[in-house]
Order: sequence, then structure tokens, then C-alpha cells
Amino acid sequence: MRVGQGFDVHPFARDQMRRLVLGGVEITGAPGLAGHSDADVVAHALTDAVLGAAALGDIGTHFPDSDPAFAGADSLRLLETAVELARAAGWEPVNGDLTVVAEAPRLTPFVAAMAEALTNALGAPVSVKATRAEGLGSIGRAEGIACLAVVLLRPLGGAS
Ligand SMILES: [Zn+2]
Repeated sequence: MRVGQGFDVHPFARDQMRRLVLGGVEITGAPGLAGHSDADVVAHALTDAVLGAAALGDIGTHFPDSDPAFAGADSLRLLETAVELARAAGWEPVNGDLTVVAEAPRLTPFVAAMAEALTNALGAPVSVKATRAEGLGSIGRAEGIACLAVVLLRPLGGAS
């Protein structure tokens, strides 16, 4: 078995037209996050956890934000690609667990949909929890959203 962890943070965008996408789920009535792809901070943290568990580097190595191919990219596709890379290296996901840290908007109504979308992309059960920063720091001032992720991988075709 291999465990991996991931962390990501994105500031809210000044562009009012940007959509907020978290864990592949569009959250209406809230400002979007700034970033090169769709800025899905939740998918990014889980992608980094998968890559880390398989010792395959990080999301910036595989999907550089200098590459126009990833402008506005659907980050669930990046997560699926990371899972393919892990499988090519002989590992498959067992489960993932995430904590999204956001002062606003309230994410509790969306965590089930996020978990379902991420479970489909990871190919293994994903749990999503939402918490607040209790007013502390830049996340607490609702200047952005952060996400922490852990994922467990097992050898392909093996039980341990
Ligand atoms: Zn990111």
C-alpha cells in the first residue's frame, strides 16, 4: 500500500464571469477561483495525492500552467489522467478523503455531489468534508479556498 497527500489553494478571481467548480461540481451564486485550468482546488488536491502516492511527482510536472492545452481544463480529466499514470506504474486507488476549507460559500449542500463526481473519476470511494477557517487568515477572510487530500493506493491486482 502507498499513501499520498495533496494540498492546494486558489484565490477567488476578480473576473465575475468565472464559474466556481469544486470537485467537478459547479456551485452557483458564488465567485469563481483564479487559476489556469478550471481552478478546481478540490480535484487538484486529490490529483496531487494520487501522484504523490505513486511517487510520480506533482500536478505542476504533468499539467504545467504554462501549457495552453490546460487553459480552462476540466480538472476531473486531469485527475483521471493521474489515475491512469498511477495504474501504468502498477498502483490502483483504494480510497480518498478530502477536507475543503472555505469560509464562503457554504459547501455542505454540495459535498455529496462532489464525492460522487470524484469517486467516479478516482475509480474508488472518495469522502468529502467541508470546514471553515473560523475567520483566521486569508482563507478565513474568504479570499480563497483550500483543500487537503489523502489517498491510498494498492498494487494493481494485489490485495496488499
Ligand atoms: Zn490548483
